[in-house]
Amino acid sequence: MTITQLRQALLAGETTPCAMIEKLAGEIAARDGSTGAYLSYQLDSALAEATSADLSLPLGGIPIAIKDNINVLGQPCTCASKFLENYISPYDATVIRKLRAAGAIPFGRMNQDEFAMGSSTENSALQLTRNPHDPSRIPGGSSGGSAAAVADLTALAALGSDTGGSIRQPASHCGVVGLKPTYGRVSRYGLVAFASSLDQIGPLTRSVEDAARILQVIAGGDPHDSTSLDVPVPDYLCGLHNGVKGLRLGIPKEYFGEGIHSGVRKNVEAAIQRLAAQGAEIVDISLPHTEHAVATYYVIAPAEASSNLSRFDGIRYGHRAANPTDILDLYKKSREEGFGPEVKRRMILGTYVLSSGYYDAYYGKAQSIRSLIRDDFEKAFRQVDAVLSPVAPTPARKIGCVSDDPIQEYLSDIFTLAANLAGIPGISIPCGVTDFDGGTDLPVGLQILGPHLGEAQLLRIAKAAEMA
Ligand code: GLN
Repeated sequence: MTITQLRQALLAGETTPCAMIEKLAGEIAARDGSTGAYLSYQLDSALAEATSADLSLPLGGIPIAIKDNINVLGQPCTCASKFLENYISPYDATVIRKLRAAGAIPFGRMNQDEFAMGSSTENSALQLTRNPHDPSRIPGGSSGGSAAAVADLTALAALGSDTGGSIRQPASHCGVVGLKPTYGRVSRYGLVAFASSLDQIGPLTRSVEDAARILQVIAGGDPHDSTSLDVPVPDYLCGLHNGVKGLRLGIPKEYFGEGIHSGVRKNVEAAIQRLAAQGAEIVDISLPHTEHAVATYYVIAPAEASSNLSRFDGIRYGHRAANPTDILDLYKKSREEGFGPEVKRRMILGTYVLSSGYYDAYYGKAQSIRSLIRDDFEKAFRQVDAVLSPVAPTPARKIGCVSDDPIQEYLSDIFTLAANLAGIPGISIPCGVTDFDGGTDLPVGLQILGPHLGEAQLLRIAKAAEMA
């Protein structure tokens, strides 16, 4: 079921929120042992909340799975890290407070790459998650548990976070819808910070309409997050069916170059043709600084991560090493024991690019290029209403088949990073399937990027593509 369908069934008295939660728990017991999307869930508290759910509210009685880096009062918030393996949240994130106020029930803690650093969920220090379409493959990442559960029918919808593609890319690999809102559209309060100038929370769902329903509830300014935007939230559902007739859709040549898997290219091009057939005007455009997005992101994101993760010192949060000789030893041992290899790599990189003597050459330079990438999009959106592209160069790869060179993995983020650097919204929707090195058919996602705060139009285009 989609959220829309469950809502109708609940209002018609065909099922109850408790029955739904019990049904989900049954599905999780049946399948999640092999998929591995859930790190944990609290059945008793969810059933208690379900008993008193107010069905008249916009998400009344709807269970929503939550990535394990978003705080839910009284529940684990591990960020899939050994460091926070036993950490229990002392408060609700703003998105959770808003979901609850709309009647939703946070149910389940979803696996991810450790501290959201990665694109495969293989960097989880706690558990492996498999792609429900082919268990030998990654679900994508870092919100891999959220995407896999929605695809595996063990969750109706989920929240994820996207710093450089972590909602859109796993959505693409698992064949579900994933929306990264405009930077500031959704409060980050209660999201464990990775790179604060890039992080956004958003929904992973089975339909565009469901994504609109969740965004409607979680969007808005928040006094607890000074980067959230205190501007009115439009009605994301009302124009959803207006179609694409007369809209101008840009195809950036830099996103269709070499290195794209033929099945990805074919499906994305076919999706573009379907939108053209519905009356959209297809316009060739250029985003000339695209080639610098990976280098820019992998300076800025680690820099911010190294600063944000300095709070994990063994004193206040999570893991504390035993028998330290002194305070410095406590910091060192706790961090050495608590963090996995990719997180350490990011902190070392980030500390390096921020250090005196290198700051201007790396961090300062990356900030300048970030402005050029933002300008590319500003210019493009004077010409077109949205930009269409693949989400990832290939479908989901096999688990474990990654080279020793982390740069190879970073390069696969090429199509998603720029939206975070520019702060603009982006959505991934399923647009077809293809085979990849033999085996089963794998989902391919279409990415649609829109101008700052242009989520309503983005959702409308996504809906048209979904219908087509
Ligand atoms: N894959 C990117 C990274 O590893 C993006 C992750 C994310 O969006 N959280 O940093």
